[in-house]
Amino acid sequence: MNTFEATNYYFQKAASLIGLNERVQALLLNPSREVKVSIPMEMEDGTLAHFTGFRVQHNNSRGPFKGGLRYHPLVNLDEVKGLASLMTWKTAVVDIPFGGAKGGIACNVSELSERELEILTRKFVQQIQDFIGPTRDIPAPDMNTNAQVMAWIMDEYSRRAGYAPAVVTGKPVELGGSQGREAATGQGCAIIAEQYFKDHGKGLKGAKFAVQGFGNVGSHFARLIEGRGGLIIAVSDSKGGTFHSQGLKIKDVSEYLKKERTIVGFPEGKSITNEELLELECDCLVPAALGGVLHQGNAARVRAKVILEAANGPTDPEGDEIFEKKGIVVIPDILANAGGVVVSYFEWVQNLQSFRWTLDQVVSELRRVMLKSYESVVQIASSKKISLRTAAFALGVGRVAKTVTLRGI
Ligand code: NAD
Repeated sequence: MNTFEATNYYFQKAASLIGLNERVQALLLNPSREVKVSIPMEMEDGTLAHFTGFRVQHNNSRGPFKGGLRYHPLVNLDEVKGLASLMTWKTAVVDIPFGGAKGGIACNVSELSERELEILTRKFVQQIQDFIGPTRDIPAPDMNTNAQVMAWIMDEYSRRAGYAPAVVTGKPVELGGSQGREAATGQGCAIIAEQYFKDHGKGLKGAKFAVQGFGNVGSHFARLIEGRGGLIIAVSDSKGGTFHSQGLKIKDVSEYLKKERTIVGFPEGKSITNEELLELECDCLVPAALGGVLHQGNAARVRAKVILEAANGPTDPEGDEIFEKKGIVVIPDILANAGGVVVSYFEWVQNLQSFRWTLDQVVSELRRVMLKSYESVVQIASSKKISLRTAAFALGVGRVAKTVTLRGI
């Protein structure tokens, strides 16, 4: 199954559980708009390159479309459609007034200069500017995009529309970005992990975590978990990982990565592959990189007690079924990694009001929203004896179905 089919599989499972009528089901299965653009660009060496960009808007019945922009060679329409749909359910699970969207450009950022990245981003905005806007669709960072990319988007859009910081979130703080946005997804994951381990008797102290991906989400998560007494026994990037049974020092890993541009070869750990990381014995496995990494081919060998989905769509339905049979608890993406979009919402609110929150305000509101959502999902799962994923989908789908019906099909 591709990402879109996998998301729809989870959607339909939840839809039948809550008895969603077929008309609404059919409506929610497909995105409301799919934009695909061709971006020709003269490169610095004089050659002409053609990039393909996407923006898929899934549903906006609860508020403007909202979702990240990913720059990666594997970006394709099915993946973007699946991720856009996931955003609809995610914003509904955490009950913020947004719909779901996603976008991206199929490109390899490591082959682009900073200037080429800026031109590519601006050309993409020129092609999608009629579809985005503070009350229409609000992009944000995702894999290989960051605050600088968001700054270019904000600037390019504002050239035509007038000063419009609320068109995009995850901006630099100097341009109206929110305090705490950069760490928000990892922080939200850490809040959920801490609560889960507290609810299951042990607390975080000494709990062992293996984290795949050490970018924005994985690195902040690892740092925060280490700060709360957890042991990060393994981390990785696209080239491979490093392992230490007594816990890695995350500050040292970050410094090494900054210098060497990879985690591979970190002197205080043993080198491992990404596949080995996923199969380590640990309390909690945290996929925080690409989707589809846990599947029929490796799920039976996973030895974690809990999987916290920091990445979007890391577990495919076959893998998910194996985990359910093995009694491995999966804390699903649409709950676990929602911290980013929650603080994006805070950023948007601050931009609309031209008012700034303090970091303490952001973190305490994030905590409140994440824990309230976690408790709602756990309550549905235990009362209906279903997995946390099905419970989260049931909660999100139920809320979206309600607004769609109230507004009129
Ligand atoms: P990022 O680009 O900052 O980091 C990605 C990390 O994954 C890097 O360490 C990279 O080396 C690693 N990686 C790439 N390909 C890999 C591979 N094949 N195997 C192992 N590692 C690989 O991206 P990010 O923003 O941290 O996003 C990571 C995941 O979290 C994505 O699935 C994204 O959709 C999801 N997510 C991000 C946010 C956010 O706010 N940034 C919010 C919600 C969900």
